Amino acid sequence: MKFKFLELQENYAKILFEDTTPYFVNAIRRTMIADVPKMAIEDVTIYDNTSALFDEIIAHRLAMLPIPTYLDEVKGCEDCRIHYTLSKEGECTVYSGDLKAEDPRWNIKDKNIPIVRLLKNQRLILEAEAVLGTGKEHAKWQPVCGIGYKYYPEIEIDQEKCDLCMDCVNSCPRKLIEIKRNKVIVKNPEECTLCMSCVEACGRDAISVKGNPNKIIMQYETDGSLTAKEVFQEALNILYEKYDELEKKL
Ligand code: SF4
Ligand code: SF4
Repeated sequence: MKFKFLELQENYAKILFEDTTPYFVNAIRRTMIADVPKMAIEDVTIYDNTSALFDEIIAHRLAMLPIPTYLDEVKGCEDCRIHYTLSKEGECTVYSGDLKAEDPRWNIKDKNIPIVRLLKNQRLILEAEAVLGTGKEHAKWQPVCGIGYKYYPEIEIDQEKCDLCMDCVNSCPRKLIEIKRNKVIVKNPEECTLCMSCVEACGRDAISVKGNPNKIIMQYETDGSLTAKEVFQEALNILYEKYDELEKKL
């Protein structure tokens, strides 16, 4: 199997896998969702909450915040705890940036996630602790979102049959097909969604679209607790260890 990043940002990646199979790419996807660990708030002690939201809702909202996770420091340490405090009085909105870690390195990077709106004289005072977990225990420990993959689109045009009627050009929702120098061309096949609208529109059977199951594009975002590259690397390490263990047992 080969892979390369088609796009790599801090919290987003698009990866092209070649010489692979759908079940192997799916194993990577499932590992990223369920097995890559991250920190999330697990225990909340509320000292004062006169906001409109119940304690349980506040605790739930805190749990879903993307806590920065330095895996090399906390991996394998189920007892490691990051301690936070929060103290706010209205009138104001309480944001993720109001949660203060003992060590500022663990402060939440996205400071503008709203937790609750406080009216005049309403208060929210609490302590919280984040621990390491995985997505198979609870979604709050799932580092990726919107993860999916598709077969690599292969689009062929039989220029002999084609009469340049433009029907495929007009039917493509992604505007990928155009006619240049009396030839139908596809600008960026990786963006094709395999919707088949162009095939259905062509009355001359001149265009064919199929997905290659041995060449797969996967894309995902992270919630910000880990970078897109870290999640991928960690998933590969976990899978490698699992296959290694399986091989030894066999
Ligand atoms: S399959 Fe759909 S997205 Fe792909 S080229 Fe044809 S019309 Fe466009
Ligand atoms: S719809 Fe078919 S015949 Fe018309 S331009 Fe496209 S490929 Fe050619």
